[in-house]
Amino acid sequence: MDPLSQNGTSDPEPRRLALLGATGSVGTQTLEVVRLFPDRFDVRVLTCHQNVERLADQVQEFRPACVVVGSVERADAFERMLPADAPDVRVLVGPEGLCEAATRSDVDVVLGAVVGFAGLRPVLRAVEAGKQVALANKETLVVGGALVAQALEAGDGRLLPVDSEHSAIFQCLAGESERSVEDLVLTASGGPFWDRPAETFGEITVEEALDHPNWSMGAKITIDSATMMNKGLEVIEAKWLFDVPVDRIQVLVHPQSIVHSMVSFADGAVKAQLGVPDMKVPIQYALSYPARWPAPHERLDWDELSRLDFERPDLDKFPCLQLAYDALEAGGTAPAILNAANEAAVGCFLDEQMGFRDIPRAVERVLERLPVQADPTLEDLVAADTEARRRVEELPLPASN
Ligand code: NAD
Ligand code: MG
Repeated sequence: MDPLSQNGTSDPEPRRLALLGATGSVGTQTLEVVRLFPDRFDVRVLTCHQNVERLADQVQEFRPACVVVGSVERADAFERMLPADAPDVRVLVGPEGLCEAATRSDVDVVLGAVVGFAGLRPVLRAVEAGKQVALANKETLVVGGALVAQALEAGDGRLLPVDSEHSAIFQCLAGESERSVEDLVLTASGGPFWDRPAETFGEITVEEALDHPNWSMGAKITIDSATMMNKGLEVIEAKWLFDVPVDRIQVLVHPQSIVHSMVSFADGAVKAQLGVPDMKVPIQYALSYPARWPAPHERLDWDELSRLDFERPDLDKFPCLQLAYDALEAGGTAPAILNAANEAAVGCFLDEQMGFRDIPRAVERVLERLPVQADPTLEDLVAADTEARRRVEELPLPASN
């Protein structure tokens, strides 16, 4: 027997890939995985919002048929950047361009690594078009989980998690029956402020909040990790991915980020998935599934690993996590409002127009003030998103530091 085929490394056809958000943290790590398996992938689409310099380099290396950029100005800048002898590439623009690129007939697998609400529409369209979607963009499920679930049910689309915790749960669930699952246990690093006294949270700077202890990620998710909104968004993401009621999704702080998440079963057994914190592992698994491809990613060093700690999260200190649980319970447009208010507030914090403690305050106030609509359509979600962002801009928040 060919030992390679046992590991699934001798697939006959390369996977034709559309990488949405190619220039970001997940996007560039996805291309590192593609580099390890050049014969397994045919990169058809690369997209970015602004960073056309990086995109032009990626186009030279991976030769996609199509790219998408954020605006007509960026498209002009991109075309000026390509050398005269560059291969032909179709250039599309904006949200419509993303949807067109994600549903191309020459694409089998879409990796959704756009950040924020902007990722929802192209992912939804890709699922509706029957694509296999490897999803990093958790905001898609937070806002539009019900619509994505409907589209999955109605068609041939398929969703595979890229987020490390959800990849861990997906791996723990392999071969298990749904009925035997008791609880999902999402682990959280706790971010850079886990141990910091709450009284000093008003003094937190942008630089401190961007300094994550275990993971190197884009700015928005790094701030979400510092407020623990990231874990709140992941609870909602888990609800939609695994169809488990909210009271059976627990969060545990695990500062080492070695156990990526766990599942407990009806007989008292608990399965956990462990590894060095490295997004390339869950990215690769979402692309190689159901196979595991041998790869030189860093291994756990058992001589270095002396302890694994677990603690319950402090919801008073990190109110974003509770806000996310509440929004999930409220349902309808509530998670969309939570997500939009959070995206807007994180933007204000990064621009130094808001203090760190103002992020949960802003989200809470907007959630209190906006009515929740049940069974929203995509248009209703877009309207809720727009209104929640507008409300954050209007809030008279004093800088809390
Ligand atoms: P990032 O900011 O590094 O990259 C975002 C990408 O999306 C870039 O390519 C950017 O050009 C593009 N983009 C930004 N705004 C856009 C818009 N309005 N329209 C179209 N494209 C846009 O973000 P990231 O850290 O790579 O995270 C991407 C997603 O993956 C997020 O939803 C995040 O929560 C999730 N995620 C990231 C990590 C990680 O390790 N970085 C881990 C788990 C999940
Ligand atoms: Mg995660």
